[in-house]
Amino acid sequence: MQIGFIGLGVMGAPMAGHLAAAGHSIFTTLNRSPLPEGLAAEVLPNAAAVAARSEVVILMLPDTPDVERVLLGAGGVVSALRPGALVIDMSTISPIETLRFAEATRAAGGSYLDAPVSGGQVGARNASLTIMVGGHSGDFDRALPLFRLMGKNITLVGEANGTGQTCKLANQIIVALNIEAVAEALVFASKAGCDPAKVRSALMGGFAASRILEVHGERMIAQTFEPGFRIRLHQKDLALALASARSLGVALPNTATAQELMNGCAAQGLEEADHSALVRALEVMSNHRLSGA
Ligand code: NAD
Repeated sequence: MQIGFIGLGVMGAPMAGHLAAAGHSIFTTLNRSPLPEGLAAEVLPNAAAVAARSEVVILMLPDTPDVERVLLGAGGVVSALRPGALVIDMSTISPIETLRFAEATRAAGGSYLDAPVSGGQVGARNASLTIMVGGHSGDFDRALPLFRLMGKNITLVGEANGTGQTCKLANQIIVALNIEAVAEALVFASKAGCDPAKVRSALMGGFAASRILEVHGERMIAQTFEPGFRIRLHQKDLALALASARSLGVALPNTATAQELMNGCAAQGLEEADHSALVRALEVMSNHRLSGA
């Protein structure tokens, strides 16, 4: 297939690599970074030129305004979309704006899937991403062979655009609140005189066990916060969740608290640290550091 892939960063570069390795032709355009080493792709001057060559255009961009620019801006994808082309947005962006992007794509004669992912850089490299998709089942079936080259747990969440993005934000709510719970518990136990490493390993055998206690709990105890998933990106995702909740009339009290703690971390220069560094905000409030173990 002729595939446009725009956004060759931490996630996009290995994902496009899997598509190229399976024999697909990849077309792209770059804004600042050079073509990732080893990626077989043809670089074109802008997103419109990519769309003009592609049956499927995949976007893996940082945030909503980036998708808007690449899709709808001057020299954007929509201005040169081939009839019947499929746009797949795999970035994590606003479910609300997604509806507008899908509408504009349809008006230009194409179809649209929102298909954000979880699993991080490791999942992108190992082609084991979780992919959460919103859009028509016919479009989903068309995209499935491509999704299978990049991911493992692939779900059509709903026939409406935006449902994939909503599912991804639900994921980010659960992860943030779990990190917050693990951080509170470890600071509490540590200031009470327990060895947090012992507490973690004791709790891993019981009902409080989780991937977050295992992986992020370990990072908190060792105080190693190399990303991973950056505080800055999680702030973006929680802001999207809170904005969606507001427009729906849904209360997300603990998501709001987790976001404030992340804001506190960012204020201390931890924007680029792993999201397990959320424990720092609680350590400051409790005037207690988890011992490095
Ligand atoms: P990144 O910043 O590493 O990559 C984004 C890429 O898009 C960059 O290479 C940038 O140059 C490119 N880009 C931006 N504007 C462009 C334009 N106008 N034209 C061409 N290229 C352009 O980000 P990432 O970590 O790869 O994340 C991408 C998306 O995936 C985000 O929405 C993020 O929230 C989501 N995500 C990331 C992770 C993770 O662990 N990093 C996990 C799951 C989901």
